[in-house]
Formats: sequence, structure tokens, C-alpha cells
Amino acid sequence: MKARTRAIHGGYSDDPVTGATAVPIYQTSAYAYGTAEELADVFAGRAPGDVYTRISNPTTQALEKRLAGLEEGLKGPVTGCIAFSSGMAAITAIMMGLLRSGDEILSANGIFGGTISLFSNTLGRFGVTTTYGNADKADSFEKGINERTKVIFLESIGNPRMNVPDIEGIAEAARAHKIPLVVDNTLTPPPILQAGLLGADLVVFSTSKYVNGHGTAIGGALVDTGNYDWGSGLFPDLRQAALRLGAFAFLGLQRKVIHRDLGGCPAPMNSFLMLQGLETLGPRMELHSDNALRLASALSAHPGVSWVNYPGLASSPYHDRVQRWFGGSAGGVFTFSLGTRQRAMAFVNALLLAKNMTNIGDAKTLVLHPATTIYQEYTEEERNAVGVHDDMLRVSVGIEDADDILDDFIQAIAAATAAGAALKEAK
Ligand SMILES: *Cc1c(COP(=O)(O)O)cnc(C)c1O
Repeated sequence: MKARTRAIHGGYSDDPVTGATAVPIYQTSAYAYGTAEELADVFAGRAPGDVYTRISNPTTQALEKRLAGLEEGLKGPVTGCIAFSSGMAAITAIMMGLLRSGDEILSANGIFGGTISLFSNTLGRFGVTTTYGNADKADSFEKGINERTKVIFLESIGNPRMNVPDIEGIAEAARAHKIPLVVDNTLTPPPILQAGLLGADLVVFSTSKYVNGHGTAIGGALVDTGNYDWGSGLFPDLRQAALRLGAFAFLGLQRKVIHRDLGGCPAPMNSFLMLQGLETLGPRMELHSDNALRLASALSAHPGVSWVNYPGLASSPYHDRVQRWFGGSAGGVFTFSLGTRQRAMAFVNALLLAKNMTNIGDAKTLVLHPATTIYQEYTEEERNAVGVHDDMLRVSVGIEDADDILDDFIQAIAAATAAGAALKEAK
């Protein structure tokens, strides 16, 4: 089956008792068993079953199966995906499952601010260091690898740098050094990109964004694509685990130790909301991408706009990668500038339809001034280093009628430009 069909039918078929076609919400913390021996068997892994929702839950399991199917993760006795309470919880669990004090992450720069903070601040406190590099060209990025590097981390499209890293080239370099490549595929989920096909070993999502699609719940997930051979890799405990679990060594360690210990499990209700979002993910990604391309093209041609950064534009240096790897769709997020920070703020204030808020991937169009919001803790120098300039606006284009979004932007640009002119006159 193709991705759009797997997103609707994967991982669950009608409830055998009631015939319900929607996945039931198992709103329970734990699970009762008839005999002491049965529960002991489940605890010991001798029999399948759930014991406690921090570790597993049938609603969440249906989501995990569907996401594993979408990314074509490992198939077998264990599901190839683990769902989390947030994207950050998923990235944390991956890093805690792979790294020890003294190890290093090689990461693309210009990535999600929360991930940079996790790497540099939180993991930094435990002796993990992170080197950031420009991932546009594999050969220069690869120079950041040293004998301590144990993970390479990329975003399929950098949020907010809006670059498309050389995923394929970096995957090759990672393979040569036996370093697992983790790709955050939040901005281009299937059917746009199956990151495993470009060589990603682990794929991570913030399902809060496009998977949910409606801004109704926070969640995350990781998928093991099966590309990395844990049995002969860099990690002694995973080599050991592979003797018992084979390809499922990493997932087994997560489920039985790391994820269980960290406790970042999703609420069953939220897993249901993610399942519902997944059913329309394919057509929504098309609408988001089409609307974003239409809006970004119109803004590029507008005399009041200084620049537009959207990998889907024909003028983008990443256009070729979007065609080759993303089937021509670049998702709904782009950045642009009206020349000054004052005009950026005035633009946001003049919007009538688009919402001024953080978050991306909502059905509604969202606009944000990153420098004064998500990146306000950063110094100006740090902001420039991650590509967040003072005049930059970030847009997450929704699936409203493109004409209405465009009208709103055009009138807000006019208002911002007039406000700027009035300010100059007053001076
Ligand atoms: C939002 C986001 C995250 C973090 O996910 P949460 O669900 O907010 O914890 C990670 N990576 C990217 C690219 C994101 O956009």
C-alpha cells in the first residue's frame, strides 16, 4: 500500500468485539490479570500484554504501528515505533539511549531551538558535548566527526533556517563511520519524505505539528528504520542486547529501560488525536505545500518584501533536493522579511486571519516573530548564528483558501509599510 493508504488503514482494523472502526481510547493506567502467574509472565516478557500505561497502552500501540508503517520502520515481533508525550521527549529518549558522558553529537545548525537547548544545556550538564555545523554539504559537515562522535542529527528542513541538508551524502558519511544518523522529519512527514530511504537510521517526529494537524495535542515519536546494525555498532550495551533481540536491540532497550525510566509516555486520548490526524496527513501535506508555494511566490514578487526563504521556490538553492527527495512538496513553513523589525511587528499586529502564535503544522495559518519570542533568550549574535535575524517572520501556512491567506498578508504588508512611513515622518 502507498503512504496515504497506510496512514488511514495501517496498524488497526475494526474492533473484534464491537466492530468499531475508530481506535478505542483505552483510558486506563494499568491492566488486571486473572492469575499471579499470568501477570508474572507478562512482566517477564514470556507472554504479550500491557501492564502499565507508562510502558504501553493499546491506543498508543495502534498509533505506533501506524507510524511505523508510514516510515516503513522495522517489522516483526516488536513495533518499529515508540510514541512519546512530546517531540522533545522522543529526542531526549534517543540521546539518553545512545550517549554517555564524554560522547559528542554532531548536529546541523539552524535547527529547532528546543533541540539546541537540550543538546547544549541539558545534555551538556551530563558531559555530552555538541558540535554544530552547516549540513548543506556533506563533505564539509563530515569534518565535524571525531572519535567521540556517537550521533549525527539533522532536520529534514531546518526549522527555522529553512535549509535542506545533504541528507543522502551525510547518511553515507555516517555509515562509513558507523555513526547512527537521526533525522527529525517533523516538517516533511510521509508521504513527503520517508527519511529511512535516504539513509536515516532513526527518524524522530514532533507529532504535535503535521501529524496532529489541528493544534490539539502535544506528542512525539521515534522510528527505527532498520538501517543501523546495532549488533556491530559503536555501542557496547546495544551490541550485547542485539545478541538477544537482533535488529530490535535499540527499540527493546528503549521500551524496557530508557523510555520506561524517563516516563515520557503519551496520554491515550492524545494518541487517539494523533491517529485521527494521521488519516488526513497525506492530503493535508499537499494542501499545506501548495498554499505555501502560492503564498511564498506571491510574496517574492511583492515590492514591500525584502526576501522569502522557502525551499519549494524555484529560486531556492534547495529546490533541486525538494524535487528529488520530497516529490516537489516542501511543506507549509517559510520565513520572510519586510526589511525591518518594526515592520515585522506591525505586520503581525495588522493580520486579521492569521494567528500570532508559536507552533507550526496547524490547519490554521500561524505567524510569529521568532527573535522576540522563541529566541528571546538568545543574544543577537547567537540569533544570527542560527539564522534568526531581527527582521525575520516565520509563517506556518494553513489549509484555508489560499486567496484568503494572501489577501490577509497583502493588507497587513500595506498596513506595516504605512506605519513605518508614518513613523519616519514623525521623526
Ligand atoms: C516542535 C518541534 C520539536 C519539538 O516538539 P514538541 O512536540 O514541541 O516537544 C522538535 N523538532 C522540530 C523540528 C519541531 O518543529
